[in-house]
Parts: sequence; C-alpha cells; structure tokens
Amino acid sequence: MVLAVKAENLWIGYMDEEENILWAVRGISIEVLEREIYCLVGESGCGKSTLGNAIVGILPPYSVTKGRLRVFNREVIVEDEKHYEEIRGKLVTLIPQNPGKALNPYLTISEQFYYVFNSLYELNKENSLKKARELLGIVGLDPEQVLDSYPHELSGGMQQRTAIALALATGAKIVVADEPTSALDANLRLQLLKLLLRLKNELGLTIIMITHDILSATRICDRVAVMYAGKIVEETSTREIIENPLHPYTKMLFDAVPILGVKKKLVSYLGEPPRPGEYIKGCQFSKRCPKAMDICREKEPEIIEINGHRVACWLYNVEGGEK
Ligand code: SF4
Ligand code: MG
Repeated sequence: MVLAVKAENLWIGYMDEEENILWAVRGISIEVLEREIYCLVGESGCGKSTLGNAIVGILPPYSVTKGRLRVFNREVIVEDEKHYEEIRGKLVTLIPQNPGKALNPYLTISEQFYYVFNSLYELNKENSLKKARELLGIVGLDPEQVLDSYPHELSGGMQQRTAIALALATGAKIVVADEPTSALDANLRLQLLKLLLRLKNELGLTIIMITHDILSATRICDRVAVMYAGKIVEETSTREIIENPLHPYTKMLFDAVPILGVKKKLVSYLGEPPRPGEYIKGCQFSKRCPKAMDICREKEPEIIEINGHRVACWLYNVEGGEK
C-alpha cells in the first residue's frame, strides 16, 4: 500500500493586514492511498480548497503552515518554494474549478498543450501535438475538433475535459480536482464523474476530489472525509458513510440533499459554519447541532477511530460521550 499524500497535524493559515493568522486548516492528519479517489466534502469556507491548494503547492505567499505534508513520501516543506518547484506539476496537478477561466483565452488548445509539454519536458511541436491528440482522445474529445480552437469556441463540458487533458499533460499521478462539477449541469456532472473514475482506473491516478456535494462524493470516491471549520470531523469508506454516518454534520449534509429512489423530507439546518478567525469555544458545530451537550460548548472533540471509521464528536468519545 503506497501512500500518495500524508498530512500530519497540518495547519494552514493566512496572515491578515494586522499580521494575525487566520487558520483555515487546523491540525489535519490524513493519508491518501495511491490509486484511490479520496473526497474532501464540506461547505464553502471549511478549508477544503486550502488543503487541496497546499497539496498542489499553490498556496499564496501570505499563507503560513505548521506540521508536515508529504507527497509520495517526499517531504514537502510548504514554506520552501524551491523545494516545491520539483513536485508541483510533476507529481501533483490541479483540475480547476472553472475551466473557462483556467484556459488561456488567447491561445489555441494545441498551443496550450505545447506550452505545457515544452516547458516541462522540452517536447517539440510535432511530439507535443501527438501527445495532445492522445490525451484529448482519453478524455473523450475529438482532437481534430478541439486542437485548433480557442477556449471560447468550446462548450462548457468540452472546456472541462480539455482542462483535464491539460492537467494530465503534466504527467502527474496525483490529481486534485477542486469542485470539478460545479460549473456543469446535472447530465454533464454525471459524465464527468464517470470520466474521473475511468481515468483513475486506466491511468492509475490518485484523485483528491473537493466538493460541497456529498452525493457527487459518494458516486465515485473510495473514501470520504467531511470537513468542518478547518478540521476533518469524519472520515471513512464511502459505503460506511452512506450506511452509517456518525457525525451530526455529516447527517445534516445527507438530510439536505434528495436521494434518488428514497422518499424523504428535506431538512434545512439553520446557521453557517464559522469563518477562520471566528472560531467558537468547544465543538465548532455546536451552535447548529441538534445533539449538542454541555461538554460540546466547553471543549472541542479530538478525532478518534472506531473500527477504521474516524469521527470527532463527543457522542462517540468516551471522555465525554453518552453512547
Ligand atoms: Fe454535536 Fe457535540 Fe458532536 Fe459537536 S461534539 S457534533 S455539538 S454532539
Ligand atoms: Mg473552494
């Protein structure tokens, strides 16, 4: 079992103008296995994109990090830009949230492939074109239709597939996909999820998918980690999270979405997650949680493991729980 990504007590924050650090990721430990699809789920502002960006190596200069992060067993000192240059784009690549913006509007698709292949691998135009054709075919596009086009001449779905092919052009085996389906309609969303699954199987990729949509997560992922206010609050296999979600926040995410073939009343929960810098005492979910107890407002629960299922909630922690 090869570890693709390992984070140990990883903290990531942003420095504000008064030099206060607003922590967006607070002491996360995760292990992502090679060739798995690992999903980070949560509402916006929970720190999932920050974690994804750290893995890709594209944190902004005003970010601050503590703890350890390793990619294929190579120590990534996230503050050390030079060190990361060797990893970024070669071991890890990003499928962007908005391909329309990520693609260069002034270059044809073939020119964009040439740029990647030439800068990373010094390929000439002919070889670059050959590889571009291959990759576009793999993502289900007709190369002849796409190569000479500018991004605006492609549909949203084609842009997304092109962006994926360009991300794969780096040769990286770890792909971080940040809300890859958010710009797509329901039909294209399903097609894209199937494509990611096929790419994982055919190219042996490790995919870290970031999404606010727990249903998309459960469709293709092997394991799901639910994030809330900068922490992982639950992590387990996809099957287990569907059949036996433990954390009240995970249950809330499931309650808020319709599930095909299951008759249920959709519940919407009041309140918003705290923003970095606005963290409260105790469990960060306590203001929204229907199960909150006294201890929840006093002390933040640590994540514990019960038969391979990790959860951070006083309901399951012997120190203060009642279960
Ligand atoms: Fe709810 Fe308490 Fe669990 Fe937090 S620790 S999720 S408030 S029961
Ligand atoms: Mg985000």
